[in-house]
Amino acid sequence: MATRVRPGNKRCAVIGGSGFLGRHLVEKLLDRGYGVSVFDIRQSYELPGVTFHQGDLCDKQALLAALKAVSLVFHCASPAPASDDRELFERVNIHGTRTVIEACTEAGVQKLVLTSSASVVFEGTDIKNGKEDLAYAKNPIDYYTETKIEQEKLVLAACGKGKGLLTVAVRPHGIFGPRDPQLVPILVETARRGKMKFIIGDGTNLVDFTYVENVVHGHILAAESLTPGSSTCGKAYHITNDDPVRFWDFMSEVLVGLGYKAPRYRLPYNLVYGLALLLWLLALILRPLVSFKPTFTPMRVALAGTYHYYNCDRAKHDLGYKPLVSLKEGIVRTVQSYPHLRRGS
Ligand code: NAD
Repeated sequence: MATRVRPGNKRCAVIGGSGFLGRHLVEKLLDRGYGVSVFDIRQSYELPGVTFHQGDLCDKQALLAALKAVSLVFHCASPAPASDDRELFERVNIHGTRTVIEACTEAGVQKLVLTSSASVVFEGTDIKNGKEDLAYAKNPIDYYTETKIEQEKLVLAACGKGKGLLTVAVRPHGIFGPRDPQLVPILVETARRGKMKFIIGDGTNLVDFTYVENVVHGHILAAESLTPGSSTCGKAYHITNDDPVRFWDFMSEVLVGLGYKAPRYRLPYNLVYGLALLLWLLALILRPLVSFKPTFTPMRVALAGTYHYYNCDRAKHDLGYKPLVSLKEGIVRTVQSYPHLRRGS
């Protein structure tokens, strides 16, 4: 296990700190006595002890201004996967990450922790207990994932760059928890429109959902493991709840917890996937004439109907990671945090 060094009063920056994961990370870092700067294209809250820098991570000068006297950088910014905007993903996740690395080396930052994603190895077919040594997806399921792969490669390859930058990538999967603007709100919105009646496939596929506090914990352990010569530099780590769950059981538990009915009618996976693919191709062909973005995408169908859960033994061994909040408890806390989404509210 790598030696862990508390950074004392050192200052860190969270790029993407206004987002769902970013804000949870910022709050935990403050609890642990770090001074925190947030760099983001938007400011979504105010907190004592946090300095906000509004800017685009593709702008090196703006980054350099925010990284003064910073020794540790967390990079958890990305355009939302749902935007499905190839150009934007390439600009922010690939070129922007290159800019982040350059800015870190120029500003004398010691450590860079990237929020990658376990989906960098997912091609839309089953992954059971996948380890970090699985090859990157040759056919990533969407542009978002394609650029997350390149982003991770860039950050891991930067280990030792400049004056000895230390880098590590955390690969979470299915982050959930209070204030997530995606998973629960979209689920409830779909249920309210009467469209959460169907289970895609036979409903037995296991996946990882990871409570946000555990993901934050993994990030901080990864950062604190980085010391000159440490073996964690240049490595990727799966961070999960270590408790794979049936995708449809998880969805049902959240829905029922908020007063909605669980999905109950089964649809064959191949049929639904084929339809989603057709719709996606249609949107592509018609793009010059009409622009529409189907919400029912092959990627969403694959995520809902296949196995995708990951082994986090490497994080346990190298970082001393173990989930702090159980899946059950995480679901309870999440459901309680959305009173306004409860049925009838
Ligand atoms: P989020 O959308 O809530 O947060 C992302 C933040 O990045 C936002 O505040 C946004 O304003 C900021 N941002 C986007 N483009 C920027 C730019 N050009 N310059 C500066 N800031 C910019 O997303 P999240 O769910 O908190 O995800 C955080 C990270 O975790 C992302 O890297 C994502 O790929 C990764 N991840 C998320 C999940 C999940 O289930 N949510 C799973 C695996 C990996």
